[in-house]
Amino acid sequence: MPNPVSDQQHHHFIDNLPVNASTGESIPVIDPSNGTIFASLARGSTADIEKAVIAARRASEGVWGRTTAAERGRILARWAALVADAVQELGSLESRDTGKPLRQGLADANALVRYFEYYGGAADKLHGQTIPYQNGYTVMTIREPHGVTGHIIPWNYPMQIFGRSVGAALAVGNACVVKPAEDACLSLLRVAQLGEQAGLPPGALNIVTGYGAEAGQALADHPGIDHISFTGSPETGKRVAQSAAAHHCPVTLELGGKSPQIIFDDADLDEALPVLVNAIIQNCGQTCSAGSRILVAAGIWDELLSRIIERFGSLQVGPAADDLDLGPLISEKQLRRVQGFLEDAQQHGLAPAAQGTVVAGAPQDGFYQAPVLLASVPSDNRMFQEEIFGPVLVATRFNDEAQALKLANDSPYGLVAGLWTRDGARQMRMARGIRTGQVFINNYGAGGGVELPFGGVKQSGYGREKGFEALYGFTTLKTIAMRHG
Ligand code: NDP
Repeated sequence: MPNPVSDQQHHHFIDNLPVNASTGESIPVIDPSNGTIFASLARGSTADIEKAVIAARRASEGVWGRTTAAERGRILARWAALVADAVQELGSLESRDTGKPLRQGLADANALVRYFEYYGGAADKLHGQTIPYQNGYTVMTIREPHGVTGHIIPWNYPMQIFGRSVGAALAVGNACVVKPAEDACLSLLRVAQLGEQAGLPPGALNIVTGYGAEAGQALADHPGIDHISFTGSPETGKRVAQSAAAHHCPVTLELGGKSPQIIFDDADLDEALPVLVNAIIQNCGQTCSAGSRILVAAGIWDELLSRIIERFGSLQVGPAADDLDLGPLISEKQLRRVQGFLEDAQQHGLAPAAQGTVVAGAPQDGFYQAPVLLASVPSDNRMFQEEIFGPVLVATRFNDEAQALKLANDSPYGLVAGLWTRDGARQMRMARGIRTGQVFINNYGAGGGVELPFGGVKQSGYGREKGFEALYGFTTLKTIAMRHG
């Protein structure tokens, strides 16, 4: 008897139609909770990207290009409502496909609803300006879509990253070609079907599944792509930017972080503690903005560390459907990467100060990693400097504000920082001194922050997504100077 789930074959989504891979090849979809194959994806190639770009260009120069801002907003609002009705289905699918605990899958689906609502509402609010110029002239600027935008989406938050990038790009009238990570495509293929139901015309949204080195590279290389938004590792981001530069294509890069949370001795530890722990265990540490370094004032080091150790000791890891504190990592590759970091830490004398537990019934072939706390980590250690992208929290002590700032900035990354202190002047001095794209004071992540511009400095990338700011990045500015006498 064929199993309807495990035998399910998924296709590309091009011109609002399911499209087979040109090569006929497929990619197995693995459940991270137990290591079994339960579906397959089309293995996209250069030929499939070509089809998708042609479809998007046709839409951009045709029906979609003529759709008014108000109508684009209505389509996004209808899409938000359809996703809201499908939150359970999408959340469960995401949870199975990526190993996220179920409540995180549901939270991601709800965040997608908010992105579509937000960008639906924003679609007809973006406009240019008039500029005072010489007598006899009227000068105006108008914001225009780039045309065809490429979106390379990672596996950690497919729905959220799709929402912030594709939602904004469509709102301002671009036609999109999306290449999700091969480890996390299923939710987006379903969301695309809902987009068609909401009224997206053929070609406005196209999804090509496949490997990064094949379909992803073909997208970055394609001269018909007018803008690329990429989220992922600094190495792949650099390669994508180099490929895009070959055809003068602008890029937005979000490349992760090693984000510090800094806890001063006047902080409210009861408030801070759950946030500090959640910021590293959420999505099993596979979050670009994970709070993966905590910098702790010497005066509260013993108290705070003992409370974190106690909390880490009680954390449970298990299958996504069990909805415990943490699920498995996304893949065997990611598990090996995190284990490699931990072995390296051990060899450098950094033994875990605390760790959680993988529950007894967790399947042997799942990709489970217990959360680990590493204490008193020197700033020149790899664990302090590199993004591990797993549930590993690094703690380092500081003596004064100047040292806290120096440690916070002692990183090749600059994405997010958290400050915990009641001293208002210190809050502002630190917030101004830290080199990151976002700073949170007495909170962290602010619940996802659909409305809050997001992106990094240094190796964390450039350009901004989320919030209204994203709309500027997905448009180009035209100046029209009219001489009328
Ligand atoms: P990558 O940067 O390689 O992957 C991110 C995206 O880029 C995926 O969609 C991937 O597709 C695609 N991709 C890969 N190679 C190319 C290419 N040559 N051209 C175009 N697109 C490409 O990250 P990994 O998944 O390998 O993860 C490695 C590390 O990167 C993680 O441990 C973490 O540190 C970091 N990372 C950061 C993320 C963030 O949110 N900032 C997200 C993901 C990873 P595919 O997966 O199908 O190969």
